[in-house]
Amino acid sequence: MHNIHYKIQAASPTEHLFKVELTLKNPDPNGQTLLLPAWIPGSYMIRDFAKNVVSLYAHSHNQLIKLKKINKSTWLCPPLNGPLTVVYEVYAWDLSVRGAHLDTTHGFFNGASVFLCPVGLEDHMCSVEILAPEGNNYQEWKVATSMPRLTAKEHGFGMYQASNYDELIDHPVEMGCFTLVAFYAGEIKHEIAVTGKHRANMERIAQDLKKVCEYFIRFFGLPAPMEYYLFLVMALHKGGYGGLEHRASCTCHIAREDLPTSVHQIMDDHYINFLNLCSHEYFHTWNVKRIKPEAFMPYDLSQESYTEQLWVFEGFTAYYQDLVLIRTEIISPEQYLKLLAETCTKVWRLPGRKKQTVTESSYDAWIKFYKQDENAPNAIISYYTKGAVIALALDLKLRLLTNNQYSLDDVVKKLWQDYGKKNKGLPEGRVIEIIESFGDETIRTFLQKALYSTDDLDLKTLFHEFGIEFSLRIPSSLKEKGGIKTKEDNLTKVSLGITAVPSEAGIRVQTVFTDSCAQKAGISSGDSLISINHIKLDNKAWETQVAQYEKGDNVIIHAFRRDELMSFEVTLDFIPTYICELSFADEPTPKMLENRFKWLH
Ligand code: ZN
Repeated sequence: MHNIHYKIQAASPTEHLFKVELTLKNPDPNGQTLLLPAWIPGSYMIRDFAKNVVSLYAHSHNQLIKLKKINKSTWLCPPLNGPLTVVYEVYAWDLSVRGAHLDTTHGFFNGASVFLCPVGLEDHMCSVEILAPEGNNYQEWKVATSMPRLTAKEHGFGMYQASNYDELIDHPVEMGCFTLVAFYAGEIKHEIAVTGKHRANMERIAQDLKKVCEYFIRFFGLPAPMEYYLFLVMALHKGGYGGLEHRASCTCHIAREDLPTSVHQIMDDHYINFLNLCSHEYFHTWNVKRIKPEAFMPYDLSQESYTEQLWVFEGFTAYYQDLVLIRTEIISPEQYLKLLAETCTKVWRLPGRKKQTVTESSYDAWIKFYKQDENAPNAIISYYTKGAVIALALDLKLRLLTNNQYSLDDVVKKLWQDYGKKNKGLPEGRVIEIIESFGDETIRTFLQKALYSTDDLDLKTLFHEFGIEFSLRIPSSLKEKGGIKTKEDNLTKVSLGITAVPSEAGIRVQTVFTDSCAQKAGISSGDSLISINHIKLDNKAWETQVAQYEKGDNVIIHAFRRDELMSFEVTLDFIPTYICELSFADEPTPKMLENRFKWLH
């Protein structure tokens, strides 16, 4: 037991309560301050974890001590000589990768949401005793965490430790009856723990992730920066999705259907979805967990920390998450093109790309990207997808400029050597100089435009030199994601320019796109559309009903706004062109083929 000791018990699974005890042998004699983070690194939103603290009291030498709350997340202890023990419960019913969750089937927590930080003692070692719920029902429970063990047995409850508070909150803990599989990559033990009902083919997953992990360990260079790595996976319902990176582990929430079963041998879109989530989080082990914005060193978890650089940390990561899958031959070149086309479609389909730059998106992540409303598609761009497209363009551009001598790989490796490995924060703007050092001033001009303007990137010209044709076309439905170009398509379907979901009251409008005919006619988010030219709109076929009209036709749309019937005269003149398609050129030159080979292998 260290001078700072935490004890956390999954005390009441039915009430979803963790009980935590923090004992400080030597608290600040002038009054110890205790803080619960307002946000968790990797997820840039104020979450105010203190809202889940249900009861809190303290004692010292068998005397109750009154702590004073001095702001929403901070408690102050009166001056005293240690030890000081603080006892509190944390309500844990947030099934996300960011918080804590406890029921009779499993327990999970991120340290940021349960462990009070003793301000001023952040750099001290601490021990953590992790305890199972009491009772026979929990005898089989095990622990999965990358937190270093003190006296606990492998996967056992008991004593763990962390060398400082920053490390303490960077090892999420899963407890329950998860399925485990292990593999070695770069001589480091990796484990995958899958929680939730599933029939996943664990061996298959281990076999594929091993390739990804070995690739990245080699890419950044031995030795790897961690001694053990853990993928904490939770199998969820359809649509379940989320990931969060940590220094030696990650949490991945995934739909059950995205996990391969033993009868399911092909590499399909579902399984690719799972693999690139895992490879994304794994790449973060270097890029953002160690190569970090200067503004995150150290993290100020009491308030927002601003950086323009999330396009590097999320965009580059999003680019490499897919690239590694083709470089390790887990997916085919066609499957890779499809992933690229889908990413491009996500950028081109948002009118917001003309309103917000990628650096603004990063800076304002706290109030915009993480707080998206119905107008978000018109107002913002994602630093993930636009960042990935910038990464792609930079990679191709550097290769062309230097005749394949340098690429984005060299940029990322330099970031690792000069910053991540040395534990030095990356100052704002520095990455531009590093990129320029591998290219020339045209790269700087390109970057200025990519980062500080809302102009579309010219991917068509770049792709052409790699024997790949890039094109944009009109969508045939809202669900279309872009992909491989299969045939010439002369679609000229009109659309209202909305996203909507069927509801009992009608077609409920979510987003009305900027400059769409729906917007010009006055249709608004929340309206329930019921008819077009006095014919009922069908819940399943409303898009086709609209598309039966020709460009320029005038139609009457009836809708309810709240409980008031509205009538809109709509001129159907909106034909957006945002579906990105990629295809291999029919007659590439040998130089194009060489460029492509060096890029993808
Ligand atoms: Zn990420």
